[in-house]
Amino acid sequence: MSINEFIMNNEPQIRMTFFFGMLVIMAVWELVAPMRQLSVSKMVRWGNNLGIVFLNSFLIRLLLPATAVGIAGFASEHGWGILNYFDMPFWIAVIASVIVMDFIIYLQHVMVHAIPLLWRIHRMHHADIDFDVTTGARFHPIEIFLSMFIKFATIIVLGPPVVAVVIFEIILNATAMFNHSNIKLPKTVDSILRLFLVTPDMHRVHHSVEDDEANSNFGFSLPWWDRMFGTYRNQPRAGHIKMKIGIHKFSDSKQVSWLPGMLMLPFKGKISDYAINRRQWNKKDDSDAN
Ligand SMILES: [Zn+2]
Ligand SMILES: [Zn+2]
Repeated sequence: MSINEFIMNNEPQIRMTFFFGMLVIMAVWELVAPMRQLSVSKMVRWGNNLGIVFLNSFLIRLLLPATAVGIAGFASEHGWGILNYFDMPFWIAVIASVIVMDFIIYLQHVMVHAIPLLWRIHRMHHADIDFDVTTGARFHPIEIFLSMFIKFATIIVLGPPVVAVVIFEIILNATAMFNHSNIKLPKTVDSILRLFLVTPDMHRVHHSVEDDEANSNFGFSLPWWDRMFGTYRNQPRAGHIKMKIGIHKFSDSKQVSWLPGMLMLPFKGKISDYAINRRQWNKKDDSDAN
């Protein structure tokens, strides 16, 4: 059996193993060296945030006949995609694919903040008033489907090796859990890690209620895109302990911490609310959130 066949036959198990492995590692780390005190009990947070994860996996299995790995296998069999047109060492194709796919995720993340309709879908991720490992997996089902279609399109155009797609998904999953975790890293370790990886301190800035801070640090795995495109911000103004996390005006726990309210978040408020440069909350009228 080739490596591609092995991956295609065992992909769900491979991903589940990495997901739960990383979850356990980060959960223990958060217990040993926490950064901030959580404002909502862990039982409620974990029950609801992980509830979304199970709902999303269930919906994807039910409604999507293809997987990213399946599409990559199909594309390479048919010679589709830019990388399949060039002769290059396999490992270069793998590294290039992982980097390009990470860049696309960065662009997608900027886009869901910039376009009002997409921000509605993405704000479920930001409405979390705490920031821990489960925040990293908390995305609205509509956003998960949008991500899948963007990923499929990227794979068809790029033609990455199947192995690269699996490596990318595992890295993205693991780094999302790492950089959302409520852990305290020594400043020097953080600044060295930041040269090649998005750290929890770097991504926490992105979860600030302050609009200029939330509209920075869009990267998930590689920190370079933010620096290259001018969206990098070093630290939150109020400091990591004092900064407020979440979305201004969204503080009702039924809406931000419990699954049914979270799922309804895209349908709340006015359509133009809260995209880049169009936020309303500093104005007098604070009443349209609920
Ligand atoms: Zn975001
Ligand atoms: Zn985030």
